[in-house]
Amino acid sequence: MGSNVEMFKLTTCPKCKSDLKTNNNGIQVCNVCEYWTKQGTARLNSITIFE
Ligand SMILES: [Zn+2]
Repeated sequence: MGSNVEMFKLTTCPKCKSDLKTNNNGIQVCNVCEYWTKQGTARLNSITIFE
């Protein structure tokens, strides 16, 4: 509660809408299009480009 770190946490791939997997390093990876983002720091530039 009240944590700004959770702002950009994603559950689905912003590119292909598939489920993201989170590995042990906190990296969220899409197995379909190979998009990845560090949990809590979604790459907003990529989201904008592919939206
Ligand atoms: Zn994807």
